[in-house]
Amino acid sequence: MSLHQNSNDFVTISQHENCEVKQNKVNKQYGLFANAPFKAGENIVAFDASKIVDTPNYLTVQLSETQHIHLTPEYLQYVNHSCAPNVLFNTSTMQLESLNDIEAGEELCFFYPATEWRMAQQFVCNCGKPNCVGLVQGAEATPTEVLNKYKLTDFIKSMAAQYKTFLLIF
Ligand SMILES: [Zn+2]
Repeated sequence: MSLHQNSNDFVTISQHENCEVKQNKVNKQYGLFANAPFKAGENIVAFDASKIVDTPNYLTVQLSETQHIHLTPEYLQYVNHSCAPNVLFNTSTMQLESLNDIEAGEELCFFYPATEWRMAQQFVCNCGKPNCVGLVQGAEATPTEVLNKYKLTDFIKSMAAQYKTFLLIF
């Protein structure tokens, strides 16, 4: 695999259908980037479980109250969090789905509480978006009015319906 410089700050690490892994030369962080444009609601990559575990860690995506999966293809671990996400790990369709129109070259990011009820480690977000939630926690600890702004997995929606009061507008 040849490494080539893709933009000033990023080096391409590996190329895949529809996306590529790049590393930021400054902070050494990896991310997954679209290498083709996508329309809102398109399936970008199908994913599956390489392993199912019963406790979450920083790499897992939550399927149910007792099931957390390690992702395959493995490069999907490089999809970072953003408070203005453009993709969702849809655990009903098992597709990484676009939430809005995405341009080739854009980084693919998801909103952690959209799939995670309780996270192994909360962290302070530095996404810099105007709507940044600051402290990123699982959906359980995320205010309902914040969750309501995001597309959530069916699992998180059902957990929220059971354990949180949603402000439904009809
Ligand atoms: Zn943020």
